[in-house]
Amino acid sequence: MDEDTTKERVTMDEITALAKRRGFIFQSSEIYGGIGGFYDYGPLGAALKRNVKDAWWRETVEIRDDVVPFDSSIIMHPDTWKASGHIDQFHDRMVDCKICKHRFRMDHLKSTEQCPDCGSKNSFTEPRNFNLMLRTFVGPMEDTASTAYLRPETAQGIFVNFKNIYQTARKRPPFGIAQIGKSFRNEITPGNLTFRVREFEQAELEYFVPDDGGDLEVFKAWVERRKMWYSKFGVKSERLRFYELTAEERPHYAKAGIDVEYLFPWGWGELESIAHRGTYDLDAHMHLSGKDLQFFDEANKKKYTPILIESSAGMDRTTLTMLIDAYEKERSTDPNGKETERVVLHFHPMIAPVQVAVFSLARNKPELVDRARGIEERLRGKFRTQYDEGNIGQLYRRQDEIGTPYCVTVDYDSLTDQTVTVRERDSMRQERISIDALAAYLRQNIDWP
Ligand code: ATP
Repeated sequence: MDEDTTKERVTMDEITALAKRRGFIFQSSEIYGGIGGFYDYGPLGAALKRNVKDAWWRETVEIRDDVVPFDSSIIMHPDTWKASGHIDQFHDRMVDCKICKHRFRMDHLKSTEQCPDCGSKNSFTEPRNFNLMLRTFVGPMEDTASTAYLRPETAQGIFVNFKNIYQTARKRPPFGIAQIGKSFRNEITPGNLTFRVREFEQAELEYFVPDDGGDLEVFKAWVERRKMWYSKFGVKSERLRFYELTAEERPHYAKAGIDVEYLFPWGWGELESIAHRGTYDLDAHMHLSGKDLQFFDEANKKKYTPILIESSAGMDRTTLTMLIDAYEKERSTDPNGKETERVVLHFHPMIAPVQVAVFSLARNKPELVDRARGIEERLRGKFRTQYDEGNIGQLYRRQDEIGTPYCVTVDYDSLTDQTVTVRERDSMRQERISIDALAAYLRQNIDWP
């Protein structure tokens, strides 16, 4: 291309506006003024998030023979959270500014002297511990005996079921258990759209390995697999980093830990944590429940507690990352010197909410409309499709803005030569393809990496 193209980084205001305008993300219960830390996914957002979860599920569970799926309840026996340490230790320290009344997480403050919001000096209250678990009551009585918690992570459901799972799935370490599900945390300062929310989804893999000295190698292999995952689905490597936790930053029982971080418009933020957790979690549940969660190795007639490697990724943060990372505002000057701008989301075709848009060149021409609708119907079920009609330039712009990789246009020639124009989103290249060959052509270009 001989056009001058400049690219610039998106701001959170632009992402939030696009998310609302196109139906990716809405504030929860907006007509009542919203509720802090909760969001709803609109039609395109729901599809996008589902595709991100499918991409994780496929790579972590479906294409492997050593990982089994699991789905545990959100509310568990409260002793679960005693054993896991969440009741005693799942705190953030918070302070309030006495002047502007804003609340902050201590570990998010650069200095504890001056309020970053109103600038007042020494205006903070004494720090207080704040437990992040959301509480509810189970049954008709609202007392301490009926207190229960909405899970702050999905992993504990896996740990307490470890024996049920390996026995029924007939698995022996090394093997993994994977789950995607909702988690809840009463965050002190939710913010940055869906980055920090109070209700979110986690995709967690708990991989159990024998205590034969190979655990660190397995940890490294999972870090590599997760690196590959982000790269396969197009997250730019220069905006990703794998931060290695130091011994001081890791819990005492952990031999290694990596935070996967993305460079958001406001700075680096955690997407996922990959951790070597030793035998800590199974030990804790065995201790409090008095039940045996060890693995019995028939071959060696030996019982042992498997070592755990965990990968815990936030699906809302990953979906937001996909949206931000895919965003590009292209400004070009055409050969006549005219400035043009297009907003395009460069989603991987398997992540894109709509994969193929089919257009009729004109609105009021039944023969074109019928033909285009017929093509869209035949592609539906094979791909995520959308039918539209009207001004082709405007239709392309709309599909670029929601990240549709392929647009198919039915025009007058289509009626005689049985071909259509297929336009590719990123290169904007257009090709004539025969209608008979269309599905095969699209399948070649829209597939799992
Ligand atoms: P942070 O330090 O950002 O509060 P964390 O270290 O407490 O996160 P983990 O407990 O390691 O997070 O949870 C694993 C993953 O779950 C995180 O990497 C993140 O993607 C996701 N997650 C955790 N808390 C939230 C939240 N409040 N909103 C959205 N996603 C979250």
